Amino acid sequence: MYKAHHLVFSLNIILIAAILSYPESFSVFKDLSTENQNILQICCTWGKSLDDGVLTFYANDSQHLVNDNLVKKPFEQWSSKLGTVNFVEAKNASGADVLISFNEMGEQTVGQTTNVLNDKGFIKRVNIRISVNFSEAKLAEDTIKIVLTHEIGHALGLGHSNFHDLMNPIVNYQNKVITNCEIEAVFVANNWKLVENLKQSKKPELPIEKTVDCGSD
Ligand SMILES: [Zn+2]
Repeated sequence: MYKAHHLVFSLNIILIAAILSYPESFSVFKDLSTENQNILQICCTWGKSLDDGVLTFYANDSQHLVNDNLVKKPFEQWSSKLGTVNFVEAKNASGADVLISFNEMGEQTVGQTTNVLNDKGFIKRVNIRISVNFSEAKLAEDTIKIVLTHEIGHALGLGHSNFHDLMNPIVNYQNKVITNCEIEAVFVANNWKLVENLKQSKKPELPIEKTVDCGSD
């Protein structure tokens, strides 16, 4: 019964949303930490682009708002923790699996990730938008780095968490460290490639699980 319920839920996602969007903000609209369990949502699963274990990224920063390292470091952190996903910089925007653009909008939203899904419900492209300022004030480099690390979590298939970790939707609540639970969730989301494919070649497959229990702290 439990499994059947989750299966129906994931089919609904495919039918309703070809695009999934995650806005982040500094505004505290809801304290999610009151739940008993520490839960991390699983959002999406990569399709064929991940078949070679490589995802390409490109930073569109024509105004030179951030330095190169600030973009590369978060990708390197995810790569080294996952061990089985390689992020490689693309030569141009059109060929990139993950496109990051920086702006100075200064709105209430500092980061936004849009996962574009194909007709089978798998991620085919990800767009990340980051504002380097918030309500007129320029963000600290460290903050921009945490926001980007969080957005890459979405790009890897993660949703939001209800406790104080990297995937909390509220920027002030985010932890800058990528935890084992987040790594486990990326493996669950992309199980067909990151777990199953190590044994034998498999086609993209959506996971039954929609959340990962991260235990209590
Ligand atoms: Zn988010």
